[in-house]
Amino acid sequence: RRSYLERFRGREAAAPDGRRVLVCANIGSPADLGAALTGDADGVGLFRSEFLYLGRDDFPSEEDQYRAYREAVEAMGGRTVVVRTLDIGADKQADYFRLPREENPAMGMRAIRICLTRPQVFLTQLRALYRASAHGKLAIMFPMITSVAEVRRIKEICAQARRELEAEGKPFDGHAELGIMIETPAAAVISDLLAREVDFFSIGTNDLTQYTLAADRQNAAIEPFCDRHHEAVLRLIRTTVENAHGAGIWAGICGELAADAALTDIFLDMGVDELSMTPGSILEIKARILDR
Ligand code: PEP
Ligand code: MG
Repeated sequence: RRSYLERFRGREAAAPDGRRVLVCANIGSPADLGAALTGDADGVGLFRSEFLYLGRDDFPSEEDQYRAYREAVEAMGGRTVVVRTLDIGADKQADYFRLPREENPAMGMRAIRICLTRPQVFLTQLRALYRASAHGKLAIMFPMITSVAEVRRIKEICAQARRELEAEGKPFDGHAELGIMIETPAAAVISDLLAREVDFFSIGTNDLTQYTLAADRQNAAIEPFCDRHHEAVLRLIRTTVENAHGAGIWAGICGELAADAALTDIFLDMGVDELSMTPGSILEIKARILDR
């Protein structure tokens, strides 16, 4: 099996119509970059930035963050690294944030909601990200979006980060792509409106499934009620990809479903541009695409 998979290493995956399909890695810290490279990743489709904030007792500095993001773009040598901004709350807690206890944390103060409530914390991360963008190909992605108003507010804060760096004479890539995760049913349903605001979508099927099927992803007892291939989720994915392409932007999938070989053909038929997954599954999915 291993030697069969090795035949696909270094090859570019393309859909039946000839379109390039990127097969990328999801990583949780710079320590995973080696696995992404040996896994034959075409880029990093999801760099979860929570590692910088968890397991410590105060906010990470701009400098700490800048170093980690820079390390990632430099290691990937020109291939795009999509960094997702802070996604804590719900299952991931950091005491120094002093977040109130909640009855329904998955539907509470998490991810972009924390960032928009504390713009200074957000701005520090954005400044670090833009500074790292001067050293490679970096894209910035925002989690848990539900509305156009949120995206517009985010873009204002991004513009503020760029203005500050410009005034300080610090280099950055002014064309670094800005994208959003589509991981709430609301975002999928209004993806036509959201597509006008950003450069790309990445569909987070873990949360999209949880919220669409009202099935807690943390609760194993609910699993029998949670059909991973539920038609409702697949329709939302299809709608999202169609609306992305309608507005001329690209759409990827970075939830667990991206590595589900039973769905690869369906995703290619939908026109998905990128599949991002745990590095160990990349060759498997490249084989599925190239050897069908
Ligand atoms: C998702 O929700 O599908 C996703 C990729 O993000 P996370 O698993 O980190 O919530
Ligand atoms: Mg998610």
